Amino acid sequence: MIIKSAEFITSAVKPPQYPPAALPEIAFAGRSNVGKSSLVNVLVNRKRLVKTSSTPGRTQLINFFEVNGQYSFVDLPGYGYAKVPLAVKKTWGPMMRTYLEKRESLRGVVLIMDIRRVPGQEELDFILWLRQYQIPAIPVVTKTDKLSKSKQMKQLAVISETLGVDRDHLIQFSAKTRRGRDQVWAAIEATVNI
Ligand code: GDP
Repeated sequence: MIIKSAEFITSAVKPPQYPPAALPEIAFAGRSNVGKSSLVNVLVNRKRLVKTSSTPGRTQLINFFEVNGQYSFVDLPGYGYAKVPLAVKKTWGPMMRTYLEKRESLRGVVLIMDIRRVPGQEELDFILWLRQYQIPAIPVVTKTDKLSKSKQMKQLAVISETLGVDRDHLIQFSAKTRRGRDQVWAAIEATVNI
C-alpha cells in the first residue's frame, strides 16, 4: 500500500465525540505494550503517528486517524495492563462495547497478540464480543523477530489452538523488520471490500 497521507483526526470516549462515520473503519486492539502503535506506524509508514508506549493510568481514549483519505483507522485503548487503576479498568469495557456496538462504519478489528504469549481471557472475551457484533477479526501475531523460527512455529500452534483460529489465518508480523506489512494491508483491504 502506497501511503499518500496519514493524519490524526480526534480522540473520543463517547459516540457524540466520534468523527462522522464517512470512511470504512478498521480498529486496532491488543494488550498494552503488545506493539499496537508500532504496527500501525509501520502500516502507514510513519515513525510516530501513533504515539508508542502511552502512560498507563491516563484516561484511555479512542483515537481516530485518516489514511489516504480512504480509510479510517482507530487505535483502541490497550487492555490488561496490571498497573492501570481500577477506575480506568471499569470504564474500558463499556467504552469498548459501545464503540463496537454503535460504530456503523466499523468493518473489522485487527487483534494484535505477542507471539511469545499464550492468549489469555482478555483475547478470548474480545473475540467473543466481535462474534456477537458480527465484526470480522484480523488476528496478527507481532514481535516475531524476538523468537527463533522453531519457537515461532511452536507458538503459532499454541496460539491458533487457544483462539480456535486456523493457523493460516494468523498473520505473522514484526515492526522491527516490517515482516507481514503487506499481508496485514491485504487483509484490511479484503475485509473492507467484503
Ligand atoms: P503498544 O502499547 O501496544 O502501542 O506498544 P508499542 O508499539 O508502544 O510497543 C511496545 C514496545 O515493544 C516498544 O518498546 C516497541 O519498540 C517494542 N516493539 C513493538 N513491536 C515490536 C516488534 O515487532 N519487534 C520488537 N523487537 N519490538 C517491538
